[in-house]
Amino acid sequence: MSSKYFQVGQGVWGMRLLFVNIYMIANRRGVGKGWVLVDTGVKGSEDKIIEMAESLFGLGTKPTAIVLTHGHADHSGSLKALLKHWNVPVYVHPLEVPYLTGRSSYPPADTSVGGGFMTLISWMWRTTPINVSRNLREIDPYDGIPELPEWKVIHTPGHTPGHISLFFPLNTTLIAGDAFTTTRTESAIYALSYIKKISGPPKYLTTDWYAAARSVRKLAALQPRIVATGHGPVMRGRELLTSLSFLANRFEALAVPKEGRYVRSSAIADENGVRYIPPQTTNRKQTVGLALAASVAAFWLVKQLW
Ligand SMILES: [Zn+2]
Ligand SMILES: [Zn+2]
Repeated sequence: MSSKYFQVGQGVWGMRLLFVNIYMIANRRGVGKGWVLVDTGVKGSEDKIIEMAESLFGLGTKPTAIVLTHGHADHSGSLKALLKHWNVPVYVHPLEVPYLTGRSSYPPADTSVGGGFMTLISWMWRTTPINVSRNLREIDPYDGIPELPEWKVIHTPGHTPGHISLFFPLNTTLIAGDAFTTTRTESAIYALSYIKKISGPPKYLTTDWYAAARSVRKLAALQPRIVATGHGPVMRGRELLTSLSFLANRFEALAVPKEGRYVRSSAIADENGVRYIPPQTTNRKQTVGLALAASVAAFWLVKQLW
């Protein structure tokens, strides 16, 4: 599988690592005038990320900061290894802090929603926190990120409590993380082949669907011309505007599962972490399927996810 990087827009590049994307933003102004890394991919991606950075910005380069759209394992997997190489600040929203200081786990994945192979194996994702306290900086909701002065930070909760998106108003480029995606993340065929399909946030790990709907509507209102998401290919132009407004207008029908642990009531979290997790909705058939699929998948994915 190729992990060659691609250009998103002026001064923005991305790279696909297995089934998740990372991005690099070159900075024309602000602290250091350097570049910023957005998300860090699955565990073990550090060499590929460093190689991409050096081919874009020169040997021995390092970012002025790392920004996480959120702390899920597929976005923070290589963070600790990268911090050994690049000792730089890591910016997250205040509500995402507890999952990056060892304080709180995320609520467990809901393996009963969305169907698809990726959903069945979603219980394997690490939901326990990592601890990168020494490098962690809270994003100031008013001032944004000093190392990215031209980008607006938009709080887009729902998938996680402190999920953020990044918006560059000059050419309306949006980095949306997992607020919504451009492939069906529940399906292995879609997610691994990067088949383009605008979709809601990954169903199995989204724990507040009311907030998720508001976040997608907030992003659609920006009318971005370029969108780069955590999962799936870059989308642009008219195709993007049409499909994003379609998703925003019909979010409940298109993106929200009919049943599921977090559908009728949401998980509740604050700046100390998770406060309430709705009880599991059991589904016997699903559980048997899960066990079978997971045992096969375990051999293949175990190294990537832990
Ligand atoms: Zn996520
Ligand atoms: Zn993700």
